[in-house]
Amino acid sequence: MKYLSTRGDATPRGFSDILLEGLAPDGGLYLPTHYPKVDDATLARWRGLSYADLAFEILSLYIDDIPAADLKRLVQATYTEAVFGSAAIVPLRRLEDGVWIEALSNGPTLAFKDMAMQLLGNLFEYELARRGEQLNILGATSGDTGSAAEYAMRGKQGVRVFMLSPHGRMSAFQQAQMFSLQDENIHNITVEGVFDDCQDIVKAVSNDLEFKRRHKIGTVNSINWARLLAQVVYYFAGYFQATCANDQKVSFAVPSGNFGNVCAGHVARMMGLPIAQLVVATNENDVLDEFFRTGTYRVRATAETHETSSPSMDISKASNFERFVFDLLGRDGARIAALFGPAIAKEGGFTLPPEDFARAASYGFVSGRSTHADRLATIRDAWQRCGTMLDTHTADGLKVAREHLQPGVPMIVLETALPAKFAETIREALGREPERPAALEGIEALPKRFTLMPPDTAKVKAYVEAHCG
Ligand SMILES: *Cc1c(COP(=O)(O)O)cnc(C)c1O
Repeated sequence: MKYLSTRGDATPRGFSDILLEGLAPDGGLYLPTHYPKVDDATLARWRGLSYADLAFEILSLYIDDIPAADLKRLVQATYTEAVFGSAAIVPLRRLEDGVWIEALSNGPTLAFKDMAMQLLGNLFEYELARRGEQLNILGATSGDTGSAAEYAMRGKQGVRVFMLSPHGRMSAFQQAQMFSLQDENIHNITVEGVFDDCQDIVKAVSNDLEFKRRHKIGTVNSINWARLLAQVVYYFAGYFQATCANDQKVSFAVPSGNFGNVCAGHVARMMGLPIAQLVVATNENDVLDEFFRTGTYRVRATAETHETSSPSMDISKASNFERFVFDLLGRDGARIAALFGPAIAKEGGFTLPPEDFARAASYGFVSGRSTHADRLATIRDAWQRCGTMLDTHTADGLKVAREHLQPGVPMIVLETALPAKFAETIREALGREPERPAALEGIEALPKRFTLMPPDTAKVKAYVEAHCG
């Protein structure tokens, strides 16, 4: 399997070539040259596999430059009951007639990002050792991504993480999760500023190409193809749990921000998984809902980006969206380059011609939006009527899922975080504390390891320089 860029650079690259990369050199995103088709006999065979074996089968279709035995070992070391809390890894539970919740949040940081990040940690360590190289991951986080990256990379050979976060702005639980890590290769840098200050510093460092090359600076952002690929697996696993034969269809409802999670659903559907609808659920930051209703993609300004109670979906643009539009427009790299380059830079977005937009529905996409009031009502309803406590993002997914139910088609809502991460809103909705996994009781009291800094790029560079080996 080879990979190409959504903006037209068709230089064939292998999986290992793009594993440690962010954007393609032309500014596009990497995609496989084609989506391998999975036939009925293959689906039937996969139905009986464990999660790790299923992951190995799917990954093998896209990775041909890591020996099979090595890949199998990495995947089996990743998806274990010890790390994800159950043998099923992504267990499905019934919520009400026709609606299921697929649990993707039982990994170390209680959010679905662990599903991909844990694999990425093992793949990075393997590939860096094979090349005899080192990598210093520099990132900015307001919560979920940073902790998922740190828990995936902790103790890994050849990798160091430098994670910037806004000082005093994360929840006590999120701070405790990250700052209690004692691993030497994990560096928490808290910046006296807001999240945007952290991100600006990361950008400034990344723009210093000489510094970046000399200190082997990399990222683990959501556009990484390996992350997306790892997420494809749980669409298959959810399908197998909700059905007993391959002539049945299911729909998935996906709480969405950067379009990474639901883009993996799109890949699964392109491979032939019988998916009726991919329900894109947004919060008040409704860039994606607007597109799927109107055909207009309009990037939001910072001032227009709302701080919500489902904060991991508070985005101004959907970084993975370009991948879907590339497929929608017949993989025309030149058109994608024009739309996502100049059109966004100059006009802040684009509107697809009606004939192109009309085809979006044939890819199964529908959408909806959820507000703080919807979130509270949905969390209350699920708790009082169904006896299950949902986090705020999953509640957005359920709210929109219910607007798109079809008779006879199971609707699988992806649970993207556990309520313990968003205690404040749970208290507001239910007047009680969220349940917390036993292993995380009292983490706020653990010793904290972080370095406080002013929002000063030079100081961050000096810190990285002194600690990057
Ligand atoms: C990251 C995240 C999302 C959004 O996922 P995308 O892939 O960016 O669409 C939703 N819910 C939670 C809890 C997250 O951490």
